[in-house]
Amino acid sequence: MTFPPLREELRGLQPYGAPQVSTEQAPVQLNTNENPYGPSAACIADIATAVAEAATTLNRYPDREHVALRTALAAYLSRDTPRGVVPEQVWAANGSNEVMLQLLQAFGGPGRSALSFAPTYSMYPEYARDTSTAWVQGRRADDFSLDLDAAAALVREQRPSVVLLPSPNNPTGTALPPEAVGRLCEAASGDGWDGLVVVDEAYGEFRRAGVPSALELLPQHRNLVVTRTMSKAFAAAGLRLGYLAADPAICDAIRVVRLPYHLSAVTQAAALAALRHAEELLGRVDELRAERDETVSWLRAQGLRVADSDANFVLFGTFADRHAVWQRLLDRGVLVREVGPEGWLRVSVGTADEMQTFKQALTQAMAEVMEEDAS
Ligand SMILES: *Cc1c(COP(=O)(O)O)cnc(C)c1O
Repeated sequence: MTFPPLREELRGLQPYGAPQVSTEQAPVQLNTNENPYGPSAACIADIATAVAEAATTLNRYPDREHVALRTALAAYLSRDTPRGVVPEQVWAANGSNEVMLQLLQAFGGPGRSALSFAPTYSMYPEYARDTSTAWVQGRRADDFSLDLDAAAALVREQRPSVVLLPSPNNPTGTALPPEAVGRLCEAASGDGWDGLVVVDEAYGEFRRAGVPSALELLPQHRNLVVTRTMSKAFAAAGLRLGYLAADPAICDAIRVVRLPYHLSAVTQAAALAALRHAEELLGRVDELRAERDETVSWLRAQGLRVADSDANFVLFGTFADRHAVWQRLLDRGVLVREVGPEGWLRVSVGTADEMQTFKQALTQAMAEVMEEDAS
């Protein structure tokens, strides 16, 4: 027996995570889709006051049901759907990663499967693995869109307990067309079967004007779950706060598998304070969207292939040796992500200055790589 006595299927595996490089080595960090703008002084002060107040009762366990936070999140989500969202439909955890793990703990498991369409977020198969849920992977088309007929047929055939659909998708930036969610919710249920369809809207706030959120479809489909996070548009990745909206029965089921007091009093207080500053924290989203569209056009003008993006990042390529390009960008202090199909790289949208540095560095990196190929 080897030590430590790790589960067979976990032996030799590496933990998930983007390479973290210090800001000295890479002053321009465009690798994890964070919001480049930090909170204002007023927001920081409000969070500090809220946390100080929470600290006075740290001898007690926090509100297990995080009612105040769920109420504030429901109010925030209600902007995106005419029918509104009530607190009983909301559930929060330490990042949407924990929300999705809880979904798989409650609804996956041995004898059940989860399904998504590649290329997509590389954490999904890990939630399945960690909960002993079988993993089924469909494919996206060459332009990273979903072939809806094929996707619905695969869902009907496989009867997964959970379908994971990011919209916009990571790492491609592709949003689902509005009709896709309804089609797949229907395909996932019927004949006495109710598979859940989880639309991961981690980048939902960056979607183009006129594209509805899947939240609008909650009243029609009881098997629909929409997840969100404060990590991206909300500029609070360090806070670790993700949440979902779904039928109250789904929230209730998750309560069975969640750890007691999973959301600390400090997290709840800080998240509530941050939500009071929603306007400010989301204020730069329009700017980032414009910068994204500008980046897409510029990359195309360099003769590169670029995936259409509804998110705060852009997938571009293709390079015979993407690692060589990635390394040359890093040599110039620009960290992007080596992720997605072979030959592609992903850049997060930063400030205008950061994107200027990125463009200069990429121009030089591509010239160097070409020279080497020629010699
Ligand atoms: C970043 C990201 C998340 C958010 O993760 P958190 O745990 O909330 O920080 C979720 N889904 C996708 C596809 C992401 O890229």
